[in-house]
Amino acid sequence: MKLAPGKHVRDWRNWIAPAAIAGTLVVALFLAVLVVIVLEAMGDKANEIDDSRAMSAAHTALNGFRRRLSGTLEDNAVWHEAFEAVNSRDRKDWMWTNWGAISADYQLYDGVAVTDPEGRQIGGYLKGVEFDVVAALGEQFLKQALAAAKPDRPPIVNVFKLNKSIAVVGSRALQPDRNMSPGGRYNVVTMFKLLTPSMIDNVASDYFLPGLHLAFDKPEGQLALALSDIDGQALAYLAWPGRNLGTRLYDEVRPALTGALVALGVLLATAVFAGYAELQALRRLASAADREATRDPLSGLLNRNGMIRALQAHLASTRASDGLTLHLIDLDGFKAVNDTWGHLVGDELIGAVAARLVDCHPGLEFAARFGGDEFALASRPGNDPAEIAEAALRALKEPFVVAGHTSEIGASIGYASHLAGMDAFELIRRADMALYGAKEAGRGQSVAYTGDMDRDREAVAELEELLRRALDDDELSVAFQPVVSSDNAAVAGVEALARWTTQQGPVSPDVFIPLAEKSGLIFRLGEFVLERSIRFAEARPGMDIAVNVSPTQLCAHDFAEGIMAILERENFDPRRLILEVTEGVLFDSPLQARRAMDALRAIGIRFALDDFGTGYASIGTLSHFTFDRLKLDRSLVLALDNERGRAVLGATVSLADALAIPVIVEGVETAEQAGYLRQIGCQFMQGYHFGKPMSPADFDSLPGRMARAG
Ligand code: C2E
Ligand code: MG
Ligand code: MG
Repeated sequence: MKLAPGKHVRDWRNWIAPAAIAGTLVVALFLAVLVVIVLEAMGDKANEIDDSRAMSAAHTALNGFRRRLSGTLEDNAVWHEAFEAVNSRDRKDWMWTNWGAISADYQLYDGVAVTDPEGRQIGGYLKGVEFDVVAALGEQFLKQALAAAKPDRPPIVNVFKLNKSIAVVGSRALQPDRNMSPGGRYNVVTMFKLLTPSMIDNVASDYFLPGLHLAFDKPEGQLALALSDIDGQALAYLAWPGRNLGTRLYDEVRPALTGALVALGVLLATAVFAGYAELQALRRLASAADREATRDPLSGLLNRNGMIRALQAHLASTRASDGLTLHLIDLDGFKAVNDTWGHLVGDELIGAVAARLVDCHPGLEFAARFGGDEFALASRPGNDPAEIAEAALRALKEPFVVAGHTSEIGASIGYASHLAGMDAFELIRRADMALYGAKEAGRGQSVAYTGDMDRDREAVAELEELLRRALDDDELSVAFQPVVSSDNAAVAGVEALARWTTQQGPVSPDVFIPLAEKSGLIFRLGEFVLERSIRFAEARPGMDIAVNVSPTQLCAHDFAEGIMAILERENFDPRRLILEVTEGVLFDSPLQARRAMDALRAIGIRFALDDFGTGYASIGTLSHFTFDRLKLDRSLVLALDNERGRAVLGATVSLADALAIPVIVEGVETAEQAGYLRQIGCQFMQGYHFGKPMSPADFDSLPGRMARAG
């Protein structure tokens, strides 16, 4: 048998923590990726800024170069002496001395050429050697020289390929002074400056362009500034490798960054792992707590909570037509075991009962311990509920041997089946109603719920309310029935009997006494009867007064104190009071009963064992508890019409005799019965033959009173 569904209800709350962990991871990952992207972007930007700085440095260098050559050219072309000399006869000598020889090793230029206004060479020197500038530089040079022949043109500077090198070449009209008229054409001075490797090295260090060099093809992956000719065609490039400052910076911080990210990862992994472990631990704790909250440790079965949950889970998961049946089981006589043998034995008995119940029928879905000595069984649909109830009763009927003690206990069972639309609580309520019915019907019964039970319950509730009001409004009364002495038929005492008459008529004590017991009204009722009885007895001295006491009253912890307080208040002699108790309470709560009885006996109150002969009071009970009267039940008198009945009554009277307990026979209705009972030695009699329960006024006009008086 499956004892419990044990399923965890998986709901959204279980996903909060994992979602939080996953969310943290995603955010952390996002931040890590963001940091890498930002750093890379910063590196790229830094590269870009540095590259553009380098490029503008290269431009500045080239422009400075041109400007310097332009300046030198201006000084040499606008020169009166040179103008005169070139137009003179010994111009060759002059040109050689002033320009050619110097060009061999001069910082400002590497070569000088003079051409006439049509571009024909007059003289040319490169590095101190004569050379043909037109042949070396070709058509493009002619273009520049012709354009420069006008005196008002500022120096024209372009880049040319010269031999295997690159030269910056500037041209300017040769003129005596600056105030030349714009018209006319002049000879042209052209100056060359070669871009030699050493010069480029200087530029590299001056402008902080490491690796700067001259390249004729555009180098891949390097920064390059095109050196274009007069027509805009790239002749060569000033190239240098980019410093990639950002990349280097990024490369430099990368190990630290990687380390930080790894550390972050480790930290997160640790946090996630710790969180996960914590979560698991919490879940384990929660499920342990859940088990604890739903399990009864003594029996190992579900407890009340667990059963309600299990029922709810089943009812939610099965179709209405599949409804299960709930059996509520109340043990009989468990309290006596507990009181007699102690709680340890009681606990063990609970375990043994649980074990039997669990195995009593194969159709069970789960079992639970519902309360102290209440159990519950849920059976699957398709099983006969009555059969399951019988099986459970049978299982509990067998004596239990626990800790060396043999205990016989029985049970009452109520059951109800689930119907469409019914919730767990309604099912429990119905089974409970049926259990109530089973207990009413007597021990060892099983009862199925019927709709009448609810109607009865309602009627009972109404009646209970009526009784409460009757007590409030002092509508109850007490009748007194004489108890006569067998010897002379004199009234020896009375039994006080509660009476209640509603607008519908009298209500039997057999109805309202149990009602008062269940609703707790019995305490007020008992007090009321006792007070009325005392008042009755005080007015009639020399007469005992017997008052009935319910088990509920006797077991109340302050019962003895309550009685004593009333007697004291009313100043009534306790020796005139007899309390009638029934044997049931002696079995069910022997300790409480004894405590109360001992205390009250100590002040002189006497006790009568009521309804003797209807239950199973044994000689043992009689010797365990001291009784001053034994009240033989009316049923024993009714049986006097047969031999067997007479034998039973005779034996009972002999028993009381042997124990020296005076006997009162109840329900004596005829003179024959009275005569027979007197004959076999019953000391007292009570019954309609002597007088019905009556009002105090009726009592005073009794002929029996006279008999006593006489
Ligand atoms: P009980 O204590 O055994 O009371 C005797 C019952 O037998 C009374 O029923 C009485 O009216 C009835 N009776 C007496 N003589 C005869 C007779 O010759 N023939 C017949 N047929 N009946 C006779 P009643 O008054 O209906 O009380 C029923 C039970 O209710 C009592 O049984 C007692 O257990 C309980 N009860 C009555 N009053 C009180 C009370 O004030 N407190 C408590 N706790 N229980 C009470
Ligand atoms: Mg009685
Ligand atoms: Mg009785």
